[in-house]
Amino acid sequence: MANGGAESRAVFLDRDGVLVPEAPPDSPPEHLEPFPWVAPAVTLLNQHGWLVIVVTNQPAVARGLRTEGQIEDQHAALGRELARRGATVDAFYFCPHHPKAAIPSYRIECDCRKPRPGMLLRGGEDSGAAMAASVMVGDRMTDIEAGNRAGCGLSILVENDVSRSPRIFTPDPPLEVAPDARVVDLAGAVDLIVSTR
Ligand SMILES: [Mg+2]
Ligand SMILES: [Zn+2]
Repeated sequence: MANGGAESRAVFLDRDGVLVPEAPPDSPPEHLEPFPWVAPAVTLLNQHGWLVIVVTNQPAVARGLRTEGQIEDQHAALGRELARRGATVDAFYFCPHHPKAAIPSYRIECDCRKPRPGMLLRGGEDSGAAMAASVMVGDRMTDIEAGNRAGCGLSILVENDVSRSPRIFTPDPPLEVAPDARVVDLAGAVDLIVSTR
């Protein structure tokens, strides 16, 4: 590892609004086009020895607007696209559930829907990353809260139209969550990470 053989550590990345533009949930299962700064930012994390793990709520599955297979295909394509540009995403995790899902089998109070920490904990376990040495980057307070609950040592809020708007589907958490830092995009988050960790 580039971090000198220290224990492995991960940067957990929210997907929508951080890697790719937020699309309406009922839009067609389109190709996900990463923001132009994403591949260089992920490459920089790779070079500094960080694992890169995407953790994303996809309640469109629970609403019957997407299948899990479509989400998996999207992620495989996004991973290939980034790899083509020299950037490695080590793993993708998504939560297909929603407590008010149209589809009964997805209508559960799962442990993975952010702000719950399940996806991060699973990613840490699967990859061997130490949570306290790891970082969460997202554009909603639910991302920041998930990072906190998972025990991440640093949380960074990407400030965009989403982060500034009220939650549409989920009232929770109106928690008193404060990110450790605020940046304008993933490039800013990665600059902060590699310059301070
Ligand atoms: Mg987001
Ligand atoms: Zn879930």
